Amino acid sequence: MDVPSNQHEARLRSEELRSQLNYHNYRYYVLDNPVITDGEYDELMNELRAIEARYPELITPDSPTQKTGAEPLASTFEVVDHRVPLLSLSNCFSDDELQAWYRRAMDRLDADGAQLVSEPKIDGLAMALVYENGQFVQGATRGDGAHGENVTANLRTIATIPKSLTGRVPERFEVRGEVYMSRSGFERMNAAIGDLNLEREREGRKPLPIYANPRNAAAGSVRQKDATVTAGRPLSMFVYQLGWVEGGARPDSHHETLLWLKELGFPVNPEARLHSSLEDAAARIRWWGDQRERIDYDIDGTVLKFDDLDAWATLGAVGREPRWATAFKFPPQQRTTKLREIAVNVGRTGVLTPFAVLEPVVVGGATVSLATLHNEGDIRRKDIRVGDTVIVQRAGEVIPQVVAPVPSLRTGDEVEFAMPAACPSCGTPVSRDESEAAVYCPNLSCPTQQVRLLEHFASRGAMDIEGLGEKMAYTLFRAGLVTTIADVYDLGAERLAEFEEFRTRDGRLSKVAENLLAGIEKSKSRPLPNVLFALGIRHVGYETARVLAERFGGLAAVLDADAEALQGVEGIGPIVARSIADWTARGENRAVVERLVASGVDPHVTPRAAAEAGTLTGLTLVVTGRLETMSRSEAEERIREAGGKVGSGVSKSTTALVAGADAGSKLAKAQQLGVRVVDEEAFVRLLAEGPAGVLQVV
Ligand SMILES: [Zn+2]
Repeated sequence: MDVPSNQHEARLRSEELRSQLNYHNYRYYVLDNPVITDGEYDELMNELRAIEARYPELITPDSPTQKTGAEPLASTFEVVDHRVPLLSLSNCFSDDELQAWYRRAMDRLDADGAQLVSEPKIDGLAMALVYENGQFVQGATRGDGAHGENVTANLRTIATIPKSLTGRVPERFEVRGEVYMSRSGFERMNAAIGDLNLEREREGRKPLPIYANPRNAAAGSVRQKDATVTAGRPLSMFVYQLGWVEGGARPDSHHETLLWLKELGFPVNPEARLHSSLEDAAARIRWWGDQRERIDYDIDGTVLKFDDLDAWATLGAVGREPRWATAFKFPPQQRTTKLREIAVNVGRTGVLTPFAVLEPVVVGGATVSLATLHNEGDIRRKDIRVGDTVIVQRAGEVIPQVVAPVPSLRTGDEVEFAMPAACPSCGTPVSRDESEAAVYCPNLSCPTQQVRLLEHFASRGAMDIEGLGEKMAYTLFRAGLVTTIADVYDLGAERLAEFEEFRTRDGRLSKVAENLLAGIEKSKSRPLPNVLFALGIRHVGYETARVLAERFGGLAAVLDADAEALQGVEGIGPIVARSIADWTARGENRAVVERLVASGVDPHVTPRAAAEAGTLTGLTLVVTGRLETMSRSEAEERIREAGGKVGSGVSKSTTALVAGADAGSKLAKAQQLGVRVVDEEAFVRLLAEGPAGVLQVV
């Protein structure tokens, strides 16, 4: 960042930054309603720090760099004076900054090295809890660090906070920690608000704001006037520090303090680690960078503290930040930007899906200009309008999404979104399927639908035609070579050779064309579930196709089944049954299938008897993450071949979760429910030997 080169400009800029930061502090700490993301706040703060480091004479006592948070709201809560101020942490964003922090501390301590404790930095709300004679008597927010808000009644409703302690405890003491909301709890809560908003919309009432992230939701929940509202919110707490102590001894080191707090019954994060060196701690920080998606609460970095409490006393604090601790921050995953437009995609089954066109913004290390909005209902539930400032999130491998609008920044020019009345591809008036809240283009010869269907037909898990991807689908369609999927099998060497793009310079058939024809030939013997899935019938995913194949045993039998017979199949509901029956009732669809069969498409069927005698009969497995020796769909196919069931999500009835590399929320869910987790090696043994040797209870 650029620091102004003359004092006059620096003064102007620092005044501007101070006033902005004070405003954002007020929105964040007092109103629980920030208008910028934490990452954007950090950038403003870092710029001010850099100016103040170069021009120390510009530091004012009320500078946000010299205090924490904002003054408490005395009108809502009683004000509590903190006996020892609650400081906030300095931030490091790179290894160099971390090294510099450590070296400065070593110089002051006149030491060569020191032990460190690392803990995940929970994105929650800092709290100070006071205990007297083993009883919880007071809980307060951080506030501005010196004065907080008395939220004792609200904290009493949080189950993980002990109300009374057993064993020998000091007469009076204070512990500090973070109140937070789990990610799953946050999603449930926002979904409930969204449902409420649809109801309010029908009644002509203003929608309630959606919370942007679990931290805001936790803050809003703790700072409720009515403790019964707090009681209904999914809040937890981790305790990470001892404040002051009266009438009792305290441990000498930070890691012993954590163990002691745990013994007393406080919730202490099990992920805290003691490190012998900075290198060791830095390795843990890098590990957290990859692991943050695996746990069910948000963390925005890793906290490092020196273990020796004497070192804390020697190092002291600078401004509002202790020198004995720092937070290594991850790149921010949320950013605000302008929603320029809501555009609409046409899918292979004709369903219209809205997506966000954004002013480009860097989130989590990548530039984002398009983001998903899920569906029309979701836009209404969250009250997202064109022209809004919105919060965009990009976490892990998930595609970027618009999380929520920032309604307080509205100018009045924002426009509510409505689905187009005509298909953006072919102009046909759209149909609305009220039962599924979907809008679709009913035109079967809609060009976008046809290209998408062709792409789907040839994709992996369907006909798996090598050489026929998105680009080739467009080429074939534009050339007029393929208009329906059955045309794929009429493509021959002579036909392709008529087109320049499939010829070499000396007029022979190109390698690309040869590969395409070989891929098409090979696809004729795909299994029945793949063929049924490839047809692109609405609501028929691979799993549904597999169930159909198993029940009916052949292509013709599926085509001849009516809605009633289809609905009798386990796992097929009325909407899916109706959709299949509607599809097979259309003459043009049957003609396509007849042409496929006439061209030599001959799907083979896995005999049912073989599956029933398999090693995994009666077991339900779920596969997640990246496996080394096979793809996920291969793994699922092998489970089925061995007679097992493949679950789509982890539940109590899951026998085991097969977890490969980079497993995400399913792993967390399995751990939460106590479902067995097996690695790839154990999975391969399970396939070969069955559960006896692999899954017995230890
Ligand atoms: Zn259309």
